[in-house]
Amino acid sequence: MLRTLFSFPGGIKPDPHKEASARTPIAPVPLPERLVLPLRQSAGIAPLPTVRVGERVKKGQVVAAAEQWISASLHAPTSGKVADIGNYPLAHPSGLPAPAIVIEADGLDEWQERQPLDWQNLAPQAVLRYLQQSGVVGLGGAVFPSHVKLDTEARIEELIINGAECEPYITCDDRLMRERAAEIVSGIALLRDLTGARQTLIAIENNKPEAIRAMRGAISEHRENFAVITLPTRYPAGSLRQLVYALTGKRAPSNVLPTAMNVQCFNVATVHSIWRATAHGEPVVRRVVTVSGNVRAPKNWEAPIGMSMTALLQLSEPFSDTDGLIVGGPMMGLSLPLTNAPITKGSNCLIARSPRIFPPRPPESPCIRCTACAQACPQGLQPFELYWWSRARNFDKAADYALAECIECGCCAYVCPAAIPLVHYFRFAKGELAAAAREQKMADSAKSRFEFRQFRAEREKAEKAEKLAKAAAAQAAKQALAAATKSATFEEQAQNAVASSQEERH
Ligand code: SF4
Ligand code: SF4
Repeated sequence: MLRTLFSFPGGIKPDPHKEASARTPIAPVPLPERLVLPLRQSAGIAPLPTVRVGERVKKGQVVAAAEQWISASLHAPTSGKVADIGNYPLAHPSGLPAPAIVIEADGLDEWQERQPLDWQNLAPQAVLRYLQQSGVVGLGGAVFPSHVKLDTEARIEELIINGAECEPYITCDDRLMRERAAEIVSGIALLRDLTGARQTLIAIENNKPEAIRAMRGAISEHRENFAVITLPTRYPAGSLRQLVYALTGKRAPSNVLPTAMNVQCFNVATVHSIWRATAHGEPVVRRVVTVSGNVRAPKNWEAPIGMSMTALLQLSEPFSDTDGLIVGGPMMGLSLPLTNAPITKGSNCLIARSPRIFPPRPPESPCIRCTACAQACPQGLQPFELYWWSRARNFDKAADYALAECIECGCCAYVCPAAIPLVHYFRFAKGELAAAAREQKMADSAKSRFEFRQFRAEREKAEKAEKLAKAAAAQAAKQALAAATKSATFEEQAQNAVASSQEERH
């Protein structure tokens, strides 16, 4: 199918570094002895623990249940015993611990009873609830609960399946499409039926010919009319706004959801997990993680959620000069020291860092106003202006220059000859604006509370005055009546006296 692609502005072509980890099939990992499951693994409200310390659990059993609608359940990735519920470090630069459930594996890896879901004969809301209970969230990195994305009244014109995987080093989606195309296509058909989408477009960058072939083959075997669209390799082609624009020509600001443009988008790994959940009764208890960078055996591992990052890294044999990890891709990921933090549903890639592969950035020098950053920005922003105002702590001015539209892709920093860590400045400015907005909101609500208190006091005062006036009026009326009655009595007496004196004279 020939389709006109719309070209988004800017973008960069970094060295892909994908061949090494894409070469070999997805490998299972030996079962770890201990798994740490942070409760907060997705956007929204963290689920609440449903198990107690010491309790035995089976693989796939719910250990924390979804709390409210924007929340997803969490499951035991293997059978064993709940060893602890407490605070454990996460893969985050703050290093702050967060609530987690720890499971000690019993080595049996015994599943709970699994039942496929008869989704074709269920109401869509029942399927969405099932996905929530199966812990399905976006596995491309955004970790937004999938059932919430599907819970829309919008008429979906285009269902977009994102297999672009545009960040360097990451190849987990590539391998998944090559090896499990049939399951992904079945999952896409389910999503097409749920959303009623008119067109289904599967976007893959043209540097993944095997994945493109595998997906086209599976589509033809399933007799589906999904279109595989090959995108030119250009970062950040897989970013939501750029992808939607490239395929449909639809553009919207960051605060507008794709459904408002009649588009819905899912990552291929998410689609695969939706199919495993519905067709096999398997909740999300594992994911494919690319391990690459400064390692002897770069590979995609199918790892249980909760496995230690260091333990996973060891399987790929890191070289001795490894001094840290990048969690996610080198463009948008987090750079951390070597950490025992656990793999979560959002961990798609671990890159072993070393000064040889990632030499330290040269020191930042003054901006020379070359505008290279503006030419590279896929959002059409002027990063040097954003930098200038962020650095000057004039955050309102940065907001005027559309800071909120920055997707933190890092293209600007990548091309900057002055080695300015532009994205750090933008994150800082966004944080300050968010804090100011929070403070403003608190001040506004304190002001409205104060105004309401004043209004209530005034109203009570007015009501009291009215009551007093009414009481005074009632009293006056009473007195007038009494006076009138008294004078009437006096008149009567006078008349009676006159009448009786007349009678006497006769
Ligand atoms: S690329 Fe760097 S030096 Fe050039 S204008 Fe942008 S911020 Fe300034
Ligand atoms: S990080 Fe923001 S400003 Fe820089 S290129 Fe990306 S979207 Fe543009």
